[in-house]
Amino acid sequence: GAQRESKVRVRAHFDYNPEVDPYIPCKEAGLAFQRGDILHIVSQDDSYWWQARRESERTARAGLIPSRALQERRIIHERTQREIVEGESKKNDDFDRELIATYEEVAKLYPRPGIYRPVVLIGAPGVGRNELRRRLIARDPEKYRSPVPYTTRPMRTGEVAGREYIFVSREKMEADIEAGKFIEHGEYKGHLYGTSAESVKSIVNAGCVCLLSPHYQAIKALRTVQLKPFLIHIKPPEFDELKKTRTDSRAKSTFDESNARGFTDEEFTDMIKSSVRIDFLYGHFFDEEILNADLVTAFEKLVNIVQRVETEPLWAPSSWVQ
Ligand code: 5GP
Repeated sequence: GAQRESKVRVRAHFDYNPEVDPYIPCKEAGLAFQRGDILHIVSQDDSYWWQARRESERTARAGLIPSRALQERRIIHERTQREIVEGESKKNDDFDRELIATYEEVAKLYPRPGIYRPVVLIGAPGVGRNELRRRLIARDPEKYRSPVPYTTRPMRTGEVAGREYIFVSREKMEADIEAGKFIEHGEYKGHLYGTSAESVKSIVNAGCVCLLSPHYQAIKALRTVQLKPFLIHIKPPEFDELKKTRTDSRAKSTFDESNARGFTDEEFTDMIKSSVRIDFLYGHFFDEEILNADLVTAFEKLVNIVQRVETEPLWAPSSWVQ
């Protein structure tokens, strides 16, 4: 019949395989998808089973997927079962993860002339996100800029106020953190460090691409309609390749200037573990991934991605699109 299709697009926040779903009325009618896939929801008429197709397969016939309500119920059920099995519910940063990750409604965000989305590089420490950021700025310092961080530590000889850091008193910085003026902050050797939302905005308003490489815990504070950031996960390759690419004498000097001694096997293992954890907690927020095995290849991919962010309409939370 001439049924009208809904225009709703969502980004899936979980993997789905109808083959192993005991509840689906008909396995053959199901649509498999992976976290991060953009789905066109063709019909939401049934409260349990939506009809959808992958956005990348426009001509395919629609298949059944669990509705948001059904998936939410399942997540709550699975969580309860797990808590019963494990006894007391575990108290760790798992609750950093969105309480119930199902589907996020998305729409195409069109680039605005002269206003660029901030590009945020997230990754485990040591994987190379700062090096990638530095290279992009070095390639075109007029266009790519990072905010000058604030700190409460005293200025060192050779430093210039406003160049390395904006130096402030602890009282001032604590008050500003309290007032929500920082997108991220941390403490190191008894001093506060952080990046203010205002300095990100001023780079954007100056018509530059703001590059950030904060701790992954800053994702939630950054992901706002005001900033509309583009998030990239910088991932390490598997152990052998990670070790090889970071131990090779040539790579070592370019990969991490601040870590000339190189990394231990344990540090490589920690990087991989940390990356898996970031993916578990925040994987559904990333717009792109870059595998940083060979630095030159990873940088090429970054250049390619930022080019697209600056020029192409891309999927973003629909609440960011007016
Ligand atoms: P330094 O005092 O030697 O310039 O920096 C020491 C450390 O401060 C850095 O290695 C880093 O861990 C931390 N740091 C520097 N800038 C920032 C920032 O903008 N935010 C946070 N959270 N930490 C920073």
